[in-house]
Amino acid sequence: MTVTIKQLALSLGFDACGIARAEALTEDAAFLRQWLASGMQGDMHYLERNFDKRTDPRMLVPGCKSVVVVLMNYYPSQKQNPVAPQIAKYAYAATDYHLVLKTKLFELEQKICETYGTESVNTNVQHSFVDSAPVLERRWAERAGLGWIGRHTQLIHPGLGSYTFIGILMLNIETEYDMPVMARCGTCMRCIDACPTNALQNGSLDARRCISYLTIESKDEIPPEFKAVLSGNALGCDICADVCPWNARWAKPYSQDGLSPIDKVLEWGTDTWKQLTEKEFAQTFSHSAIKRVGYTKLRQNIEAVTKAHRLQ
Ligand code: SF4
Ligand code: SF4
Repeated sequence: MTVTIKQLALSLGFDACGIARAEALTEDAAFLRQWLASGMQGDMHYLERNFDKRTDPRMLVPGCKSVVVVLMNYYPSQKQNPVAPQIAKYAYAATDYHLVLKTKLFELEQKICETYGTESVNTNVQHSFVDSAPVLERRWAERAGLGWIGRHTQLIHPGLGSYTFIGILMLNIETEYDMPVMARCGTCMRCIDACPTNALQNGSLDARRCISYLTIESKDEIPPEFKAVLSGNALGCDICADVCPWNARWAKPYSQDGLSPIDKVLEWGTDTWKQLTEKEFAQTFSHSAIKRVGYTKLRQNIEAVTKAHRLQ
């Protein structure tokens, strides 16, 4: 059954698939409780809600026995104009990755239902998730043998690297389960050393210092001390992933049609970004994940990075 489900996932275009037993994440619960108590989540108060569901999938999807984890490589073949305000690679695609993954996860679910019957999933509740539910996706990917969580707190897949989206499908059937792989960060500290805001400390990500949080999630204006070290990043940040030696070795351009970028945006220079109107923003990014950030926030970010780095 495990082999069949993985073959179905790969035939739909996912780049990797693993399966873990659904059980309580006891160690993660303790870590998460401590992390939340320290306030490192900043304004992301949604992380404080649904604690029980977040740390035990059986509370989220009653009857869940297996957690199927799929990965989709998004490492792009084309890169942005390097002197323009930078957008994280996950957001290059013209179509929001949530939609791309959800569509494929739905197809996977249909095929599993055709093979094992509709009782294989709990149709009364949502059971497939992409970055939108109280699920510790990276931990499940690790448990499903799809890699390890690096010091930059991202999943590193042996063969794909860390530029992957994660999708989750919870099943009501038992399968054989994958074994976690060994962590291979060793003595490397490149991501910690490269982070311009010192957001990676003592094995944790302090979101309040992370450029991804400051340019996407935070509702507040970016504090002056961080504006000075945005390193050209106007939406998200790939610095810790870019310096990772495993990405240098394994990251290869994706093969998904659905992740094609908006070509003209990759070519935009600083002036085009600075002159972007609200109407152009709405038209250009109507289906993109960039739309979620909103025009006002993006404008503020662009202003901050161009001032700090005198981008021309
Ligand atoms: S995404 Fe950027 S700011 Fe956040 S931890 Fe990585 S290097 Fe630091
Ligand atoms: S840069 Fe080094 S320490 Fe950081 S995640 Fe990659 S291998 Fe691990």
